[in-house]
Amino acid sequence: MIIFGTKNSLVRTMPQPGLVCPSCANSEQMHLSVFSRYLHIYWIPLLPFAKTAVAQCLHCKGTWAQKELPAEASGMRQALETLKKQTRAPWWHWVGLLLLLAVAAFGLWMSGRNKEDNATYLAAPQAGDVYTVRKNDSTSEYSLLKVVSTQGNTVELVANEYATTNAHPLNKLNDPAKYSKQAFSLSRLDLQVMQQKGQLTDVDRLGK
Ligand SMILES: [Zn+2]
Repeated sequence: MIIFGTKNSLVRTMPQPGLVCPSCANSEQMHLSVFSRYLHIYWIPLLPFAKTAVAQCLHCKGTWAQKELPAEASGMRQALETLKKQTRAPWWHWVGLLLLLAVAAFGLWMSGRNKEDNATYLAAPQAGDVYTVRKNDSTSEYSLLKVVSTQGNTVELVANEYATTNAHPLNKLNDPAKYSKQAFSLSRLDLQVMQQKGQLTDVDRLGK
């Protein structure tokens, strides 16, 4: 369950001498405040979505939201509107959204780097490289091929004898005992074609 909700926080309060209290008529004690309302997830502010302005008389303790002000207090209503427009939500009301964007940007960068690595490793195979491959086109089962040796254009591989629906089977399957003892060979071109067709989905050079 995702816990989310909304919260109000006071952004600023300004004394407004000269404005007359609609209740007690004191003209020295009016304060205007702006609150920002934000959405939070697990109490982390995600983004602000509304502002409210409130007038308060420190003398009689009367409090009015903009809409509650009597018609004759139009000057105060205008002052609240102006203050609301001039007040921005504090930066920390955006912190959740900023975090999400940072995580997404990091994910994109990692995935770009992984693609670059895959292309570099596949162009120059080395003994110990592990390829993630789809078992066949029609299933979503994945297995591994491990490079045993390379000679010129030929790559000697052993196939993992297990498969899993996890698209990243390295941790689960990369155990020497799980590979076939029987090696077979493919050309570098074969491997690149497999990658272009989406049969070979990842290259790992362990220790890198
Ligand atoms: Zn008052």
